This record gives sequence, C-alpha cells and structure tokens, in this order.
Amino acid sequence: MEPGTIVKTIHQHSKTSLSDEDMQKLQEIADDYSKVKNYVYQRYGSINSLSKIYPGYTVQNEMTRSGRRAELGLPSVYFYLAIFDALGDIKTQWAKVKSEILRRINRNEGFTQEDRHYLRFVMKIDICFSNILCGKKMEIPTEMESRYAELMSGVSDVEKLHRYLRRQVRKNLNKMHTDKADGFFITERAYRYGENNEGSGKCHGIYISTKEKRKRVFVPLTDTNQYKKQLYIKLNKENNTIEVAIPKTVEIQYHDEFINEIGISMGVWQMFTTHEGHVYGEKLGEFHTNLVNFMRDGDRTYHREKQSNPGRKKYQDKKAKLEARLHDYINRELNRMIETERPKVFYVPKLPKAAFAGVNKNINYSLGIWQKGYIKKRFTQKCRENNIEIVEVIGKNISRECSRCRAEGKYVKDIFKCDNCGYETDKKQNAAANALYRGKTDGRLNRLYPYSEDI
Ligand SMILES: [Zn+2]
Repeated sequence: MEPGTIVKTIHQHSKTSLSDEDMQKLQEIADDYSKVKNYVYQRYGSINSLSKIYPGYTVQNEMTRSGRRAELGLPSVYFYLAIFDALGDIKTQWAKVKSEILRRINRNEGFTQEDRHYLRFVMKIDICFSNILCGKKMEIPTEMESRYAELMSGVSDVEKLHRYLRRQVRKNLNKMHTDKADGFFITERAYRYGENNEGSGKCHGIYISTKEKRKRVFVPLTDTNQYKKQLYIKLNKENNTIEVAIPKTVEIQYHDEFINEIGISMGVWQMFTTHEGHVYGEKLGEFHTNLVNFMRDGDRTYHREKQSNPGRKKYQDKKAKLEARLHDYINRELNRMIETERPKVFYVPKLPKAAFAGVNKNINYSLGIWQKGYIKKRFTQKCRENNIEIVEVIGKNISRECSRCRAEGKYVKDIFKCDNCGYETDKKQNAAANALYRGKTDGRLNRLYPYSEDI
C-alpha cells in the first residue's frame, strides 16, 4: 500500500430480497467454501505445516491432489479462493503469535541480552523457526551462517531457548475453525455485471456462478457501478439479501484547518454528544425504535403464520429498506460532525462491553441488531480517511465524575448534577467533557488510530 493511502471497503446491496431457491444456491457455495477453509485450517494450521505456508504453492498443489474439489463439486475458482482465504487467516495467526512471543521475550527478565538477540534472529528466518518448533536439525541459509554462529556463541543454553519457543507457540497457537458460512470471495471468472430483462422490466445487477454448470444467479443491485476485482459476497440469511464488498484504495485527506481536540460520548438515543454539547445523530433512537418495532411485529406475525408464510418477502424488503435508511442517516451525521467540529483528535471513552444492556426492554430486545458496531466501524473509517486521530480514554465512572470540579456527582435520567459545586448539565455532555479531560491528562489508554484499526 502506498503511503498516504488507505483501503476503504465500498458496498453494493441487493435491490430486493432473493427467492429462497436463488438464496439456497448461493448458500451452497458459502457452505462448501467454509468446508474448504476448515479443511485448510485443520491440515495447515499446525506447527508441522509452518514450512509449507510460505509462499503457499505447496498447499495449493497438495489441495489440488487431495480430491476435495471434485468431492464437493465446487467450481475451482471458489475452491482456490477459499484456500487462499484460509491461508491468509493462518498467516495472520502466525504473525500474531510471533509478535506476542517477541513481546514476552522483551519483557522476560530471565533472558540475557544475547538470548534475546538469538531468539529474535531465529524467529525472523522461517526455516530456522520451523525446524526449532518441529525439533528438527538446525538449518541455516548459507549467507547467514556466520551471523548465526556469532549469535549462538553468546548464548549459554541453546536448547533451553528452543524449548521456550516451543512452549510459547503451543500456548499461543490456537486451533482454527469457522462455524460461519455466510459469504465467499469471488473473482471475475465467477461473476459479471449486467442487465436482466426477466420479470418486471430491465434491471441492473450481478450474475454469480453457482455449483450448477452454466447456471448463474442474478441479483439486482441498488446501483449500476461495476468493478473489476476480487469481491466478497456476504449473505444475509435472515432477509434473503446480499452485500457485495469491494476493496478500494483511497487517498487520505489532510486538512490543515482541522486543529480541534474534541471529547465525545456515544449513546443509544443520540449517536454522539461533544464536550460542548453538540449532538450528532439526534434521531438515532427514533430510527432504531422504528426498526425494532417493525421487526418485533414481523416476528410475531411470522411465528403465528409460519405455515403459510405470507408476506415474508414484503417484510424482508421493508426491513432492508429501513436498515439502509438508518445507515444512510448514520453516515450523513458522521460527515456533519467531522465537517462541523474540524477535529485533529477525538477522545472516546472505552466502555465495558455490556454497558448498555438492561436499559429497558426495547433495547434488550434489540441488542442483537443494535447499530453500535456499524457506527464504530464507520466512525473509525471516516477518521482514517480524514487523518483524524482517535484516542481511547478510561471509561470507568466517566458519567459520574463532575467535569467542572472532579468530585463524584450523580445523574437523574439525562441530567448530571454535582452536589459539590452545583454544576448541572446534560449527562452525555458531562461525560464527553470528561473524555476530553482524561485524554489531555493521564486518562489516555491507547491511540486506536493510526496504530490499530480496531475500536
Ligand atoms: Zn462539581
């Protein structure tokens, strides 16, 4: 990736819900795709296969010979994409395991400086690392022999260090498995954009190869954009829709005029409140309640009339529409916040996972479909695109602390009150002001972006 650019994922959505039959055809691919991935995880995810996964030809050849593809009857394009997908996951896991071990080596006081140099060296050379883990004879690429000899001479007990590495890998390397079968990668060999005249008039969409020879499923899309790259097809089983994800490299926008430090607090009813009391996404709760009520009513009808199952398609279309409208609203409000606040950095409280559970019945019912994850994802993405830093701060008691005098106050519904200094303000604004304060003082936890993509 070039400096100054980031990868952005753009999405396309199916225009209407698919027929059960078409959905089933796509599901069959997703099921097989997942089976292939699990097979690769199982066969190449362990210590013994470490030497095979870089650069991966061996795996590809062995998988070709395994006969799995014919057994499943899966088109080869999906078969190989599943293999590379799984290999990518395995490599990611190895990278994580290595960085965790390096972190421990640096912290472990039982090691001498020479021990550390030696360990770092053998971990960097795949063949060395792999042989150590498998208990095989040490093999050193010729050009590195002298360096290796030099490093080894500084170490008192080489075997002890090797045992340490084996132990750490056993401890940190997990067995990989996926129970999910809700999507698959796809390349141009297995899709094409086009128009379809069947049914009610001309519509634009994407044709996707299925397990049946020369039979493609047509999915109408909400836009007419066409891409020529590897795409990811995500299946939404509960409403028979699909989502197409397209990776796209975009240039980061640098704004010299963005100089503000902004504390924010996130909520279920109002998306974001700043330390100055500006609210963005004021109607989030309203949008969300509409969606929840609609779904609950739909579920009731569904259970009552399960046999005949009338209007299920209508329900799914309406639900998809409501969701799309909610997402559109979230994105517009995030843009408005960034344009208005002109932030250099956002300070956000880190809250425990279940912070909002049990607020009321409606919320409990809807926790599964709450848009918090979506909001965070979009928020992070937009900050990255605009070179805005996100700093997480300690979330503990952030709603109870008085942002004016630091004493512990209390809140009743949406109003925060401090008995110590008499300050009274909106609860969310008080929390946002505390986020700003903690961010600027000693309450910083970690800089989420640019160092990590997660929030
Ligand atoms: Zn106070």
